[in-house]
Amino acid sequence: MFGFTHDEAIGRFIGDFLDEGPDGSTRLVDINGRIGYDREGNFCQTHCILADITERKKAEAALLESEERWKFALEGAGEGVWDWNIQTGDAVYSRRWKEMLGFAEGEIANNSSEWSSRVHPEDMPRVMAVIQAHIDGKTPSAAIEFRMLCKDGTWLWTLGRGMVVSRDANGKPLRLVGTNADISERKATADKIERLAFYDPLTDLPNRRLLLDRLEKALASSTRHNRHGALMLLDMDDFKTLNDTLGHDVGDQFLVEVTSRLQAAVREGDTVARHGGDEFVVILEDLSEDALAVTQAESVAVKILHVVSQPYLLDLTLRADLKNTLSYHCTSSIGITLFRGHSLSADELMRRADTAMYQAKAGGRNSLRFFDPEMQAVVAARATLDRDLREAVREGQFCLYYQPQVDSAGNRTGAEVLVRWRHPRRGLVPPVEFIPQAEATGLIIPIGRWVLETACAQLVAWEALPKMSHLTVAVNVSARQFRHGDFVDQVLAIIDSTGVNPQKLKLELTESLLLDDVEDIIRKMTVLKGRGIGFSLDDFGTGYSSLSYLKRLPLDQLKIDQSFVRDVLTDPNDAAIARTIVALAQSMGLAVIAEGVETEAQREFLAANGCTAYQGFLFGRPMPQWEFSLPTGATAREV
Ligand code: C2E
Ligand code: CA
Ligand code: CA
Repeated sequence: MFGFTHDEAIGRFIGDFLDEGPDGSTRLVDINGRIGYDREGNFCQTHCILADITERKKAEAALLESEERWKFALEGAGEGVWDWNIQTGDAVYSRRWKEMLGFAEGEIANNSSEWSSRVHPEDMPRVMAVIQAHIDGKTPSAAIEFRMLCKDGTWLWTLGRGMVVSRDANGKPLRLVGTNADISERKATADKIERLAFYDPLTDLPNRRLLLDRLEKALASSTRHNRHGALMLLDMDDFKTLNDTLGHDVGDQFLVEVTSRLQAAVREGDTVARHGGDEFVVILEDLSEDALAVTQAESVAVKILHVVSQPYLLDLTLRADLKNTLSYHCTSSIGITLFRGHSLSADELMRRADTAMYQAKAGGRNSLRFFDPEMQAVVAARATLDRDLREAVREGQFCLYYQPQVDSAGNRTGAEVLVRWRHPRRGLVPPVEFIPQAEATGLIIPIGRWVLETACAQLVAWEALPKMSHLTVAVNVSARQFRHGDFVDQVLAIIDSTGVNPQKLKLELTESLLLDDVEDIIRKMTVLKGRGIGFSLDDFGTGYSSLSYLKRLPLDQLKIDQSFVRDVLTDPNDAAIARTIVALAQSMGLAVIAEGVETEAQREFLAANGCTAYQGFLFGRPMPQWEFSLPTGATAREV
């Protein structure tokens, strides 16, 4: 630029002009001056500062030229170039830069947010940290790999490099220039190499190497959260024969199918890995901190045994000499070891799972085995109980005990029916020792049906006896039983077949039932209620039933749980709860009965607070039918 600008308001002028230097060369001179005026306003003098800026201008021109050159070079090498004015937020992007992201020349504006809005949110914190470190002068340049959003919505891996190229006198950065290079191919290759190193190519499962890494992580997480984890080693029982007779292609198909079944059988956070050949490893995490972990691991293992043992349809079309498909059966054996914290190394855990797996195999295949003898004992005991219970159902080893229910005057109004198991070796087994297991396995359904049938038959028999004909019978119904699709029909069928008066029958439901589909519960209760059957809510106060649900249930009675009755005289909380339940029942128009009443003092307290019905050792223990039928006051044998 040659010329001047003159600002009349302040009487200043600035500009530059060419002049001859002392050596005769042409110089570029910068002029910065002020015009002075006298009192009349006439021009009288000027003050100017002249500066020879020839060299500076040359350097600037050279820089511009070299900048153009390196921009050109970088573009030629396929890198997108950008130039960012940190102060104003203006930015310029090269054609290649826009092209890399799929944009045409005019589609990207000249500001820095065109860049920042395209950085992958997961990468942003890293990117900003690297840029900041450079801006703060901690690094000579900034370089980082991150993803950028393309026009078509895909993410492009790029290597971004940048450098502050000018700073003001205080060192504050003014301009940042840099490049982005497309590194997606290199990334894909690296990913592939990593997959080969850590994943099994056939099943795509983590291989042994990654498995050990995951196990280490699981141990660390278990230490942090103080939760159990389980390591399972799983071996197919007869894979070798399949592989040897039908070849590897068919064997591979089988392994791929096993993989998908295993993955479907575990939770998302759990690991399924291929240990080699036909051995798989499953790591379960986040199991209970207490002994429940054994049951949790066991139930997953049982599920795995089940899914693996389902038939496989293998495609044999490649084998012209055979039929097209083969339905193949194969079982597996599982060794399990639990861990909590870091007390055992990953290697030791693997060794234990392996030992347990061989024990499972030796013990007859298609089975699971815990390494820890105590855990194995728990599992074995449960298996024995299950076997015995099935036999008990088949052989009819159950009997019913009856516990009196009385009114305020102490007169018997009925009985609660309580099941007992006459075990051939263990003698009389109380329900707490087998009902939970029967509920878990579904055996509660046939057992419950038998209880109901027998109780109804008993009611019918009592109806014929003048002294007993007024008695009602309360039958416990577990949540699983009530939930069963056939429950209502079953009860109605029993009523019809026994000819019992439904008004005398009361079903005791527990609050845990209310955790289910409440509409369905109400529907079922309403049908049965329509036939005259009564309902009592058992163990009331121990569960979580909300009052709004409670109001909607067609109940007849609340039963104060024995845990409140036990300490009703000594624990003010329990006393308050008992009182509240009575008041609640009254306000809802329901009857109330207290269970577990053992002393006269307890009875008096409850009576004083409005309770009118009782059950407990004070009035009689659960007893066999013959004893219950003796005239009251006769010998009450303790059970
Ligand atoms: P539950 O329904 O709460 O039955 C009351 C339990 O308290 C009975 O134990 C009874 O013997 C006991 N009990 C009664 N009065 C007293 C007392 O004054 N003091 C003390 N300490 N205990 C008393 P039982 O017979 O061992 O039954 C335990 C649980 O087993 C029952 O609790 C019920 O949940 C379940 N159960 C019993 N029979 C059946 C059945 O036929 N079907 C289902 N699904 N569950 C049943
Ligand atoms: Ca009960
Ligand atoms: Ca109860």
